[in-house]
Amino acid sequence: MKSLEEYLLLAAQDYGHMCPGQVLGVRMAMLGLRKLGIDEPVQQRKRLLTFVEIDRCATDAVSLVTGCRLGKRSLKYLDYGKVAATFVDLETHRAVRVAARDDARAKAKGMFPGLADLSQQQLEAYKVMGDADLFTVHWVRVKLTPEDLPGRPRSRVTCEQCGEGINDGRDQRVEGRILCRNCAGESYYEIVTSDE
Ligand SMILES: [Zn+2]
Ligand SMILES: [Zn+2]
Repeated sequence: MKSLEEYLLLAAQDYGHMCPGQVLGVRMAMLGLRKLGIDEPVQQRKRLLTFVEIDRCATDAVSLVTGCRLGKRSLKYLDYGKVAATFVDLETHRAVRVAARDDARAKAKGMFPGLADLSQQQLEAYKVMGDADLFTVHWVRVKLTPEDLPGRPRSRVTCEQCGEGINDGRDQRVEGRILCRNCAGESYYEIVTSDE
């Protein structure tokens, strides 16, 4: 693992800015990896799966440290709106969930009164505060199926309604028909018109 400072430098380079969320994300990932005993996450890519619970800067930072990526299926995004992540060791089947403490904000406030704005104060405070002040940690069990794991798709079927292909068992049986989640009624969009 690299040092906190090294990761923060990389994050600033990759994402074009530095913010308190990135500090939390980097530290959250470093703590999770330490708990699992994974020292070289990028060289042990196949060993790690990470669930993130928010779509903000902290998640980019978690991805940077762990090397877990959506495109590799090693990063799983759950829309819970929480600065939290669960790190799963696929070799030992141990998993640890690290969540940012809500009272860390209040503690951070005033630690660097000389700095101009609140975000700057938080950023510096989050670099030096203890893990226990920043995070709660739980050992957890995560249910994974073969269809959730990285690697080649385990299955591929065609939706009988829209004709689109569906990978890895995300299809549903509705009254005997194979449907995608959209056609089964879970759609997040509504077709306005066909662009053809
Ligand atoms: Zn940011
Ligand atoms: Zn469909």
